Amino acid sequence: MLYVSKDGIVDAERVEVRTFSNIERGKLDKVNGIVVHQTNGPTAQSAFNSYRNPGAKGAHFLIDRDGTIYQTASLHKVTIHVGLLQSRCLSTRQCTPAEFKHMRKLEDQWRPQETSKREYAKRWPERYPINSDAIGIEIVGASKEVPGKKYPLYESVNDQQNASLKWLVKELADTLGVSMSEVYRHPDIARKTPTEAASARW
Ligand SMILES: [Zn+2]
Repeated sequence: MLYVSKDGIVDAERVEVRTFSNIERGKLDKVNGIVVHQTNGPTAQSAFNSYRNPGAKGAHFLIDRDGTIYQTASLHKVTIHVGLLQSRCLSTRQCTPAEFKHMRKLEDQWRPQETSKREYAKRWPERYPINSDAIGIEIVGASKEVPGKKYPLYESVNDQQNASLKWLVKELADTLGVSMSEVYRHPDIARKTPTEAASARW
């Protein structure tokens, strides 16, 4: 269990607090999930630089290449890190027949915006966790184009990063009452490059 201050700041030896008000939005009341990302940038500093821009997107934590964990936003604030959602009931094969028909059609016609909009109108756990009920963890890592491949390839999450991720996910899940089955790699729930955080382990 982590100690969390009334302002949503973690007090733990392994967590270095470096919050950026520009990535914090409204109040985050109930946490239902955790989403694991890679930054698509070379360094922690490059992420911090972007977090200083007005209206910047970010997440609650950032894990550097050496495994250092930074808390970058309050646990009581929403950050913008999820984006367009996939249909949870399609992915888990639990749609009602009517919903299946509707969602299948949107997929077949490749209308991800509409799929996402419909998902956002659902309540968790009928949908995946979203910005307003999820904690985001960024891992420093870049991607590169590979000739002949449809998607860019993210670099591997290293052992130090995975050790820190494993500790952080467990502590956050315990502290916030989040089930380990509600911890996701970003591309598993959203429309993202499939290789993002592919080698993340927790
Ligand atoms: Zn992401």
